[in-house]
Amino acid sequence: MPEELLEPYESIVRFDMWEDEHTPVPREVLLEKAKQADGIVCMLTEQIDQELLEQASQLKIVANMAVGYDNINIEAAKQKRIMVTNTPDVLTETTADLTFALLMATARRLIEASDYIREDKWGPWSPFQLAGADVHHKTIGIVGMGRIGEAVAKRAKGFGMSLLYYNRSRKYEAEETLGAVYTEFDTLLEKADFVVSLVPLTAETKHVFNEQAFQKMKKSAIFINASRGGTMDERALYKALQEKEITAAGLDVFEKEPIHSDHPLVNLDNVVCLPHIGSASMETRVGMFNLCLDNIALFFDGDKPKTPVI
Ligand code: NAP
Repeated sequence: MPEELLEPYESIVRFDMWEDEHTPVPREVLLEKAKQADGIVCMLTEQIDQELLEQASQLKIVANMAVGYDNINIEAAKQKRIMVTNTPDVLTETTADLTFALLMATARRLIEASDYIREDKWGPWSPFQLAGADVHHKTIGIVGMGRIGEAVAKRAKGFGMSLLYYNRSRKYEAEETLGAVYTEFDTLLEKADFVVSLVPLTAETKHVFNEQAFQKMKKSAIFINASRGGTMDERALYKALQEKEITAAGLDVFEKEPIHSDHPLVNLDNVVCLPHIGSASMETRVGMFNLCLDNIALFFDGDKPKTPVI
């Protein structure tokens, strides 16, 4: 975290920071430091599990620098009366931008096209060279119509797309203002040209995109995952892509991150892989840091944090 962001909070909180940006805090260091901490600001790379929560006897608040909090054992935190906060809203538009950019890059084969020039493959003009799929006026199916889902739906509407969504609860405002149509999960899979995962990873949503789900999709379907890798079964996705049960996939997230160049999905031509950069704009990352720090400062000042999860 840049020092200048910490300065305004230093009268309230004393920070002990892991300085190496490129390596996550080793587990044993995290456990040891957690024992002396009143609060933790963490990223998705830190597992705030039962073991940690039990050992961290002084811990009162965990401020996660993400909107998803599948890295935190919420039940264990609740039992220990430890406050958990996340960073909703501040990253919504940025993540929606990236999700739509990923959808477009996958449909129009942008990464392959860029590599074409880098690898000196650009020869004479040919009609179907690098021809992809249209995005405009197609049907998008959004699974998880929350803050980011709705922001993606707004972008899709601008492209003249038909909007289907599946969600735990109905979103009547989005139905009215965007013309989004609620469907059952299976119907969405069958009808959508683009199936987009924006649902949080929970016990219920783990591997919802499995072999059966990919089989239900159109052969021309493009699958986009910008939520969490755990919502898809990567082996089933690989098989579906290789056997051309679906046309392509754009993935910002993976079951076990980071992945490397030997990952099977990276080696398929019809996949665009990104290293979990949904919220990665300078403005939004600073906004996320500030929200985490505001939550911590408010809490230790005796006020309610801005964005509590529990
Ligand atoms: P959100 O506003 O909470 O939206 C999540 C939506 O999913 C809610 O509408 C919720 O329904 C729905 N949902 C939850 N469980 C469901 C289930 N079992 N079946 C069907 N629908 C279900 O969250 P958000 O801010 O849009 O963020 C969504 C997710 O995006 C995060 O959890 C995170 O995993 C991911 N994310 C990824 C990146 C990235 O870098 N790629 C960045 C930010 C976020 P209800 O309205 O009924 O609760």
